[in-house]
Amino acid sequence: MIADQIMMYLDSVGKRVDENVLEAATERFKQALTRQIMSDREDRPNQLYATMVTKKCARQSAYKFHGFKGADLSPRAKINFLIGDFVELTVLALAELAGAKVEKNNERLIVKGGGVEFACRPDGLINTEHGPFNVEIKKMSEYGYDEWERVGLSDDWGYRTQSQLECFAWKLSGVDVKGTCFVGIRGLTGHIREELIPYEEGLAFSACERALRVQTSTKDNLPERAWKPVPETFRGKPTGLMILPMQCSYCDFAQVHCWPEAKMEIKSGKPKFYIAVKEPNGI
Ligand code: SF4
Repeated sequence: MIADQIMMYLDSVGKRVDENVLEAATERFKQALTRQIMSDREDRPNQLYATMVTKKCARQSAYKFHGFKGADLSPRAKINFLIGDFVELTVLALAELAGAKVEKNNERLIVKGGGVEFACRPDGLINTEHGPFNVEIKKMSEYGYDEWERVGLSDDWGYRTQSQLECFAWKLSGVDVKGTCFVGIRGLTGHIREELIPYEEGLAFSACERALRVQTSTKDNLPERAWKPVPETFRGKPTGLMILPMQCSYCDFAQVHCWPEAKMEIKSGKPKFYIAVKEPNGI
């Protein structure tokens, strides 16, 4: 739908300069630099928004909702977020050049249901012969991309939930989307692929239910953690130590609030959090 067209365009000859595409890409480039690098990161306490509730852990969302200060964003992470925005604007430009124009980029939609209401800004909408599709574009790690290619898109990082929430929001706005065209770029090598995810409301409803748990929680009564420590393994064998699962390793609140007793070590370039208990309290 989008990835195939882009690859055909890139392989084609007889290309020309398209001033409209250049202008739109320049504007998005400026917005990305301004947002990711030239402004301070703003907390938005007491405000729900879609990407806050796409991952499984309601406690992580509640830390953000109640304005808890997380770990400082490292320069590496800031560059990574900026590159994520560049990937999005690159795919949008390539799609338009390839004749698969994505419209309504970042349009503000509203998710409303189950006692909550919050904003959501999808990457766009594409009209096809099968009807309109929501578009979601992601820069992915090599590991995430390769796993997606091998076994399909997982919801470990909330990508499927985000896609369904966006479809739900389009439907509430009157656009009868058939599903999501999820486009991923493998960060290190530039490979591109897509998956069409049909609309099914279950994940969107779970996210609304999670949003309600966050909204009705308090700083002193946070929702339960979605994750707990797991045994560490090396070459398939347990080492006897307990670590936080991958989802917690990339959570801004892991060491600052959630598991202050965890000790962080970098192993093969990735953070690992060791916990000195076998069965932690308060899960
Ligand atoms: S550290 Fe893990 S369990 Fe705790 S809030 Fe973050 S994701 Fe949830």
